[in-house]
Amino acid sequence: MSRQTNRHDLAVVGGGPAGLAAAERLAEAGHAVTVYERMPSVARRLLIAGRGGLNLTHSEALPDFLARYHPAGSLAPAIRAFPPEALRAWCEGLGQPTFVGSSGRVFPRAFKASPLLRAWLGRLDTLGVRIRTRHRLTAIEGRTLILDTPEGTLRHTPAAALVALGGASWPRLGSDGSWVAVMEGLGAAVAPLRPANVGFRVGWSEVFRTRFAGEPVKRVGLSAGGQRVLGEMVVTQTGLEGGAVYALGRVLREAAEAEGAAILTLDLRPDLAEAALAARLGRSRPGESAASRLRKAAGLAPVSAGLLRESLGGPLPTEPGALAARIKAARLALDGPEAIERAISTAGGLRGVDARFMLPGRPGLFAAGEMLDWEAPTGGYLLQGAFATGRAAAEGMLDWLGNAPEDRDAA
Ligand SMILES: Cc1cc2nc3c(=O)[nH]c(=O)nc-3n(C[C@H](O)[C@H](O)[C@H](O)COP(=O)(O)OP(=O)(O)OC[C@H]3O[C@@H](n4cnc5c(N)ncnc54)[C@H](O)[C@@H]3O)c2cc1C
Repeated sequence: MSRQTNRHDLAVVGGGPAGLAAAERLAEAGHAVTVYERMPSVARRLLIAGRGGLNLTHSEALPDFLARYHPAGSLAPAIRAFPPEALRAWCEGLGQPTFVGSSGRVFPRAFKASPLLRAWLGRLDTLGVRIRTRHRLTAIEGRTLILDTPEGTLRHTPAAALVALGGASWPRLGSDGSWVAVMEGLGAAVAPLRPANVGFRVGWSEVFRTRFAGEPVKRVGLSAGGQRVLGEMVVTQTGLEGGAVYALGRVLREAAEAEGAAILTLDLRPDLAEAALAARLGRSRPGESAASRLRKAAGLAPVSAGLLRESLGGPLPTEPGALAARIKAARLALDGPEAIERAISTAGGLRGVDARFMLPGRPGLFAAGEMLDWEAPTGGYLLQGAFATGRAAAEGMLDWLGNAPEDRDAA
């Protein structure tokens, strides 16, 4: 394609990782790209994600990696086309080498997101991408984008547009899910937005809450809905949060939605078999207090002993076998997930985009990133999903622009 004759005017709405990844690919292909972002600066969620270390992606084998996404297979073509190695190479191409942490997670060596974002924005500028901040998409009419800007309403009719408007978690960073009305106005199907990678509420006793809120629980086995994970979690004022809880989040959320509460089973001594634990408990001194027995014989930290007392099933049994069984499978009733504002990511979203990430019945309108209906746990899968779908939707748009002139001209 000649850059001179077929240089199209293209718009990307949403300046998060998905939108910027799409803009980069479209500009590389020689098009004139404008990015519209409602906030005063782009990629605020990427910057916040980098606060505790920017977990860009994960180093596990691709089949295991792809299995983290729900619905199953939903992101496979996009991630196969732009896999974790490609994301690492891209990052390194911006002068930000990456490393694999002990858990297999991948981070930039600088750890934070700001050096990467600075280099990325420099590249986008060199490619001629125009970024218009404080421009909020309020409606789409035909192929015309209608945006609220500091100078008043702007109407822009590009040759094709791509929306990457994020989810509804941490709304103060820009993505607040208000796009749902815009998309439903176009007749698009949107699965209700729900909190993902979020804590769950538990009705703690006052004694437990006062003593243990803020305490981490190291190495705990958690199971729900036939799935089991080993990891860490943290007790909060209102419940539980942390990686192990998030990993079971979808199963727990769906159980809570269906039944009003979800049962989470805790293995508080995951590294010790039940029989060995029962034998240890059986050797404790007669007359020893329950607290001392849990601490010394069972080796439970005070927070784990507290969780055991909060579990369903009434007073703790004294018989060693029954007590060991309770420690290995303490059941907690979860009241449901915390509010979406506190979630790391959003489940639900726009449904029915085609293999090119184009909306059905809306030729020339594409979508990418977290606003699509998929979810994944923390561990780098979210950013990888945003980057990969951004790139894939840009490829879809290039394909549409290049290969379907009748379809395009009819739009
Ligand atoms: C605290 C926190 C930590 C995280 N840590 C990690 C991590 O370590 N690893 C990981 O993989 N993921 C992490 N994530 C998730 C990750 O940040 C997101 O999955 C990712 O940013 C999604 O990219 P996106 O481009 O789809 O959406 P977003 O990043 O949300 O970008 C969407 C953009 O669209 C703009 N926008 C929204 N509506 C409009 C409108 N109407 N008009 C114009 N612009 C609009 C928004 O302002 C925003 O800039 C974290 C998230 C949070 C909140």
